[in-house]
Amino acid sequence: MTDHVPPVSTGRRRVLTYLLVALLAAAVLAAVVRSGRGGSGEGADDPAPTMSLPEADTVGDQLTDKPGLRPLVRVCPLPRFGLRAAAQERFVTAALDCLDKMWRPVLEDALFDDEPAHLKIVTRDTDVPCSEKTVTATDAVQYCGYDRTVYWPVSTPDFEGLGPGDWRWVLFVVMHEYGHHVQELTAVFVESHDERLLAADEDAENLVGRREELQAQCLAGASLRAAQGAGVLSRSQARAVLDGQDTGEGTVTHGSGPAYRRWATEGWRAGGTTVCDTWSVPADEVS
Ligand SMILES: [Zn+2]
Repeated sequence: MTDHVPPVSTGRRRVLTYLLVALLAAAVLAAVVRSGRGGSGEGADDPAPTMSLPEADTVGDQLTDKPGLRPLVRVCPLPRFGLRAAAQERFVTAALDCLDKMWRPVLEDALFDDEPAHLKIVTRDTDVPCSEKTVTATDAVQYCGYDRTVYWPVSTPDFEGLGPGDWRWVLFVVMHEYGHHVQELTAVFVESHDERLLAADEDAENLVGRREELQAQCLAGASLRAAQGAGVLSRSQARAVLDGQDTGEGTVTHGSGPAYRRWATEGWRAGGTTVCDTWSVPADEVS
């Protein structure tokens, strides 16, 4: 399982604060109007104030409406994976470097930001700008958009018992985190953060989170296809990685096992971002 915290810049936060204040003011106004109706009978025919909230289905259109946004096939050797911290660092560094080579040129061509993804290997409690809590060596892997960094705890239970032969599964975890990096560079994160803030309740907030996570899965699928094209792994090995994404029930914040596999497979089949519009599909497709 992977995790991350969506970023929001200070300036953006200020705007969001104003927006929330505006929403609150509108809610108070609506309450005043309602109580006025009940109390005096005046204004009973007045229309209630309405708010138009941003539509979730437009989130990330800048990423999914561009047919040319496909990671490039780039041959890049990966070192042997192992659970020792140094081995993990070597492997993840090489994998991120490879993903930078796949994605940054196409992002640049599409006029998006193309900063490389950074890596922080977590061996002891580490501050992360996306959270007030520190990241510990046994936490899940996570991506922080503030500093565009993958935080990689070396003792995460998710990797317990993995051996060198499991490197393809670990590679896909890196690809998922890089999917979040693509979301960050294309401003999907900022938009999804807005959606989260405006969510009416926890269920709505979780739905936003799943749309975001499953899009990262889809983008990881596109990366997997490019890696297959480069001969990093065979078609049947790629299929095994995709099938392995369904680990059962999943979580309400990241998505069910079948949805995790389905969106990764969509991205892999297409090899690009156009099929990764998890924001405009019905809620039951991002369960
Ligand atoms: Zn994630």
